[in-house]
Parts: sequence; C-alpha cells; structure tokens
Amino acid sequence: MKTVGTFAAARDLTAGVVGLVPTMGFLHEGHLALVDAARRECDTVVMSLFVNPLQFDETRDLSRYPRDPDRDAHLAGERGVDVLFAPELEEMYPRRQITRVRVSDVTEELEGRFRPGHFEGVTTVVAKLLAGTRADRAYFGRKDAQQLATVTRMAFDLSMPVEVVPVSIVRESDGLALSSRNVFLSPEERDRALRISVGLMAAAGAAEDGECSAEELELIVAGYLGDLEVDYVTLADADSVEPARRLEQDAFLAVAAHAGNTRLIDNVFFRVTSAGTEADRGNRLEGPSILYGGR
Ligand code: AMP
Repeated sequence: MKTVGTFAAARDLTAGVVGLVPTMGFLHEGHLALVDAARRECDTVVMSLFVNPLQFDETRDLSRYPRDPDRDAHLAGERGVDVLFAPELEEMYPRRQITRVRVSDVTEELEGRFRPGHFEGVTTVVAKLLAGTRADRAYFGRKDAQQLATVTRMAFDLSMPVEVVPVSIVRESDGLALSSRNVFLSPEERDRALRISVGLMAAAGAAEDGECSAEELELIVAGYLGDLEVDYVTLADADSVEPARRLEQDAFLAVAAHAGNTRLIDNVFFRVTSAGTEADRGNRLEGPSILYGGR
C-alpha cells in the first residue's frame, strides 16, 4: 500500500477498475467491510482518509473527532487497500471552496432536520473525491442510509460515471452498530446505546412477520429507547428518504439518539418484494471490535 497526499499521486497509482472507499478514519470493521467489497470487485482500491470540516455542523464534534492515522494506515494496508489517499486540508481545499454540491429533497428529513449544512458538506467532498480519484465504483455503508441515498442521487443527477455500492452495517457481537464515535461511550452510556439496536431488531422481526404500519414499527423501537434523548425514529423510503406511512417498498427504519454527549445513528434496511419483507440486520462481529485497543 502506498500513502499519498495529492489527487495526482493517487491517480498515478491506479489502473483498471478503481474502487473508492471514502472514510474519516479511526477505522473499524465497518470501514473494512467496505474495503472487502471493493477488493472483490475492483482492480485498484483507494481509501480516502479525511476528516472533512465542511460536513461538521458543530465545531466541538469536529475538534474531538477521533484520529489515529498510523493505526489507520496499518489496518488499511493489512486489509488490501492499494492506495491510501490522506490529504492535508490544503490539498482538499487549497482555495476557499465556493463551489458546493447541494442535493435537495433527499437531504431534508431525518439528519437534515438536525444537522444543517451536513449533507452539503458530504456531497461537496464526495464529488471532489470521485472527480479527483476518477473512481469507477464507490462504496458506502448502509449505516449512513440517508448519506447513501444522497450520494446515489447526486451521482445520478450529475451523470457521474460511477457506481455507488451499498454495504450492510457491521455490528458488535451484541448488536451495537460500529461507529468511530463509540469510543466516547462510557460503559453505562454504551449499555443505554445498545437499546437502539435491540429496538431495531425487534421491529425487524415484526416487519418480517407482516407488520406494515410505520407508526407501529416506530412505536416498537421507541418502546425500547427508555430515557435516551431521541432525535427521531422514522421509517423512510430508501430512495427518496421521505417518511413512509406503510412499508410497501424498500425503506429503512432509522433512529438518531444521544447517549451522554455522543450522538448515535442506526437503522434497519427493508427490502420489499412480492414475496414479502426481508430485513437487513447487518453482520455481527464474533469478538470485540478493533476499535477497543486492538489492531
Ligand atoms: P465515516 O468514517 O464514519 O465517515 O464512515 C465512512 C464510511 O463507512 C461510510 O460509508 C459509512 O457509512 C461506513 N460505515 C461506518 N460505520 C459503518 C458500519 N458500522 N457498518 C458499515 N459501514 C459503516
């Protein structure tokens, strides 16, 4: 694996079908699942590692975002990344960024209500990463379901020659969705955070048993959340991210909640066909995550 800091150097190292895995680093098995998918389908796997200030709506969240570039490089290399693109701020934004990519509609509900400007920061940096690396395929986790829908729509609307590929959520062995921010949770907060995935799994079972009412599914999840401070529990259409009243086409049931000072998001994706509803509950690790001390 080569680590580079400029788009030109990254492009010089790519050949054939180029797969891009955009990350903000502090890698865990969720990021590595994106690498595995890219490795299977592409000739060159590029991982970007950049904590993008444009997408942070709170300066405190940006300044405390966990970082460990040496650990990230080790993990990425070991997993089969060919090129680690880890630009300095000056490479990504050498001049004031006066060009912004803004996707409407899809970004307005859920996270859009709580994180003003967030998606504009995401789509702007992802557009730059796709253009700068000339990626043919780009891998995004279902963990950030609205981001996935937004980037997919951006690529479509701007006729970008890229395939956006979704990857299932990776969870800890007890169900907690992996997130770099999980390292901030105290044991007590982590216990409470676990209720999010427990609630989602209960709703997943109900949906597979035929429950189609969004209200009922949302109530099932809410019943598990106890005293967590909840931003939303919403069933949303997988493509439009509009709140759905009934589970009649592909959708995701999404939660955002706070455990202490840490804001967590999670969801279950539902594929709806004439044969019925199938929940993507994600993939659970067998042991502890590399987030906690391991490499
Ligand atoms: P981040 O570094 O948090 O910006 O995430 C980079 C990419 O990894 C995004 O496409 C995320 O959706 C994806 N990702 C983060 N956590 C997980 C997870 N637990 N399972 C699958 N993908 C994830």
